[in-house]
Amino acid sequence: MNTEKIIKRDKKYILHTYARSPLVLERGSGMTVWDADGRAYLDFTSGIGVNALGYCDPEWSAAVAAQAAQLQHTSNLYYTGPCVKLARKLCKRTGLDKVFFANSGAEANEGAIKCARKYSVDTYGPGRSKVLSLVNSFHGRTLATLTATGQEVFHQDFGPFPEDFGYLPAGDAAALEAALQDNTVCAVMMELVQGEGGVIALDSDYVHRVAELCAGRDVLLIVDEVQTGVGRTGAFLACQHYGITPDIVTLAKALGGGLPIGAVLMEDKVAKCMGPGSHGSTFGGNPVACAGACVVVDRMDDAFFDNVNACAARLRRQLAELPEVAEVSGLGLMVGIALKGGRKASEVRTRCEHNGLLVLTAKDRVRLLPPLVLTPGDVDRAVQILAESLAEVPPEEPEAPMQPAEPAEPNA
Ligand SMILES: *Cc1c(COP(=O)(O)O)cnc(C)c1O
Repeated sequence: MNTEKIIKRDKKYILHTYARSPLVLERGSGMTVWDADGRAYLDFTSGIGVNALGYCDPEWSAAVAAQAAQLQHTSNLYYTGPCVKLARKLCKRTGLDKVFFANSGAEANEGAIKCARKYSVDTYGPGRSKVLSLVNSFHGRTLATLTATGQEVFHQDFGPFPEDFGYLPAGDAAALEAALQDNTVCAVMMELVQGEGGVIALDSDYVHRVAELCAGRDVLLIVDEVQTGVGRTGAFLACQHYGITPDIVTLAKALGGGLPIGAVLMEDKVAKCMGPGSHGSTFGGNPVACAGACVVVDRMDDAFFDNVNACAARLRRQLAELPEVAEVSGLGLMVGIALKGGRKASEVRTRCEHNGLLVLTAKDRVRLLPPLVLTPGDVDRAVQILAESLAEVPPEEPEAPMQPAEPAEPNA
């Protein structure tokens, strides 16, 4: 099938929930992906932060293929090696005690919310079921995680929503303090760098204050590291940059290196509340996904992070020098680029694509989530293509100052 036919059939048979680029991607290797017409693209998207080791890393592919040929699925009624190996690695890396495996980020967050509510009921009885999240957050598309997502634009038309969710403005510790007064809250859930919300890193003092306030009332702190986790920010968890230890951490995107897997990591005090039958998943802990994830986690040693941090610094320095760039946000290789002159991020993305570079957008920003195995040479090439592409997009408002995006009203 050629490109045109695939696109035509996609439009006929697949639900139109995505505004896809008109590219049919066919194969990949390392930092490069090729379309069905044989055109090569330098990939700075990682499939939205998933392909941490790039496309088809040989060791990862071999581990996945070997596991697929040996035992592809068992259900959680039996023990398997890859799942246990991965769980042990994750606990050792994060200092948390136990793991529940899910299949996606939303599912991991859904599991985290259930764990927090169960812990609260077991420890304090009913009446303490509220989950607070931040305005401008993103936690997933299932009904509970959608509710926790503090952006009205995602909620439109999908109510009624599960009860007992609330929203806090990021950076406002007094608002959290006030919200905790009536003792109805079991958990605070947040991203340390809001990804879909525009690649905005939370202030460190604020994060510490949240951790302190939560600890003071035994309100569980759930950090959604679905996007920031597994190396993206230059440490295994973004929590490590901030120097906090949450009660629950969720992972997904990069964990499987390209296969669907999510994880809820928690402290023993929470884990103790979740007995047989309290939660489950048919596919969770799938041995093929876990075998791939073990390769991803094992690859992340000091030298790996040195490269991530060196490339991140190089990328940020070069981007900040481009005349069309107003601000470079985020942390590590989670990069947001605010544009001057009202330039549209989506237009820049289209120009980049045309020039052989794949990039993402988040709100009004260009967003970069390159594979973590990039080299300084890849950084230089990406910035060069981005510079060319930016020069091709004229400003919309030549003299007007930057308009900061107003966060959507939360569904309070
Ligand atoms: C992508 C993302 C999710 C949702 O993950 P899915 O695998 O798409 O369900 C949740 N939280 C954050 C922070 C994310 O970036």
